[in-house]
Amino acid sequence: MVKTKRERWHNNFSEWFDWILDRAEIYDYGRYPVKGMGVWMPYGFQIRRRVTDLLRKLLDETGHEEVLFPLLIPDWMLAKESEHVKGFEDEVYWVTHGGLEELDQKLALRPTSETPITYYESLWVQSYKQLPRKFYQIVSVFRYETKATRPLIRVREISMFKEAHTVHESFEDAESQVKEAIDVYRKFFDSLGIPYIISRRPDWDKFAGALYTIAFDTVMPDGRTLQIGTVHNLGQNFTKAFSFRIQTRDEKFDYPWQTSYGVSDRVVATLIAIHGDDVGLVLPPDIAPTQAVIIPIPSQSEEDSRKVLEYSRGVLSTLLSSGIRAKLDDREDTTPGDKYYYWDAKGVPVRVEIGPREASGSTVTIVRRDTLEKRTVPLSEAVGSIKKTFDEISAYLIERARKFLADHVSRVSSLDEARKAINEKGGVIEVPWCGSEECAVKVMNELQVKSLGTPWPYERAEGTCPVCGRPAVTYMRFSRQY
Ligand SMILES: [Zn+2]
Repeated sequence: MVKTKRERWHNNFSEWFDWILDRAEIYDYGRYPVKGMGVWMPYGFQIRRRVTDLLRKLLDETGHEEVLFPLLIPDWMLAKESEHVKGFEDEVYWVTHGGLEELDQKLALRPTSETPITYYESLWVQSYKQLPRKFYQIVSVFRYETKATRPLIRVREISMFKEAHTVHESFEDAESQVKEAIDVYRKFFDSLGIPYIISRRPDWDKFAGALYTIAFDTVMPDGRTLQIGTVHNLGQNFTKAFSFRIQTRDEKFDYPWQTSYGVSDRVVATLIAIHGDDVGLVLPPDIAPTQAVIIPIPSQSEEDSRKVLEYSRGVLSTLLSSGIRAKLDDREDTTPGDKYYYWDAKGVPVRVEIGPREASGSTVTIVRRDTLEKRTVPLSEAVGSIKKTFDEISAYLIERARKFLADHVSRVSSLDEARKAINEKGGVIEVPWCGSEECAVKVMNELQVKSLGTPWPYERAEGTCPVCGRPAVTYMRFSRQY
């Protein structure tokens, strides 16, 4: 029943992805004369805005407060937490001049905002009574990436960085906050139909300055994994570095506890990648800037064509007044076929075709973007039928995406099995693991993969570590990554 193909999407994903960003007018990349920076085009920006609106709603509902910090961070501030600055030192852009004068202090273009936010929290919060505080901002951050850059996936200006920063009275409260953050991200990705696996990153790959990092990863169409969200328990590392102490319940002074968590432009990249097909974009109806597009099909007779257009205008106002984001493509210099191609590539969930037959019979023909199935319904049922189709598309997209992810997670018991799985279909391999870094490194080197971490929540493994033969304590996940 599904008439669309996903061959190019699967076999030549990189080319497909570049093609669709251009074809659907999402993100103009590669022409801006600074490497790693791109331009959000109007259609792409509308998608981006719906994604950030959803994110704001979820954060606001859970008591997060939106703030806006300066873009520039003085060098001494960024250097306060030693692990943190070490983790970022080779990626920071520095502003060294104001006009012709050299600045007294170097200023970093923020790579992330733990340091200025902790500095301000130390000015704003004096007592446990003011806690918890939960801040977030959606801003540009800059990373001097030395690896090959890719539009929306690995860029030097991450222009949709949502970073949340929280302060708590105790370690336990910070732990609960980590769980809340994970719940917020689950809801966020679920609403977008983006499937994920959640891992606790190994210590050798946690966020610089964190106690530990929990990460959301997904599998892209070519079998590589992409990190799409992270949650960090920062412990007291930053509050100690900034001498940030509060009055505690037992009337002493102590350093408070923090968490931070972020998602980025990669969410939009994933939304595009996960649901697409060889025809182009397939957008979930909740996110689609245009949910239904009406294409009038003219006839040989001028009189009939006029009736078709008039009838189409009536259908448009019916759809708009029922809350459907609809458009009528009445361009006269473009054929219906070219219009289908144009709107299908942009991922509009429903196409409404109206020809003389529909106009005279008071019907509409509805085409689903995801399966390209067609059906004709009476005009009186058009709104109900289109809304029902939206639900069907949303459900189908989530199911298809989850199945794709599930098919790309392989639990193996030997290195041979692991090698076979990673070479044949990519995705994620789960290997029983004894807990030693040395064994994980051996797997990484032998299979040319990287570690994603252990399942979150914790999962006990059967069997033995295939590297050293000792009993496994859990699984270590590996993949080839973006
Ligand atoms: Zn081992």
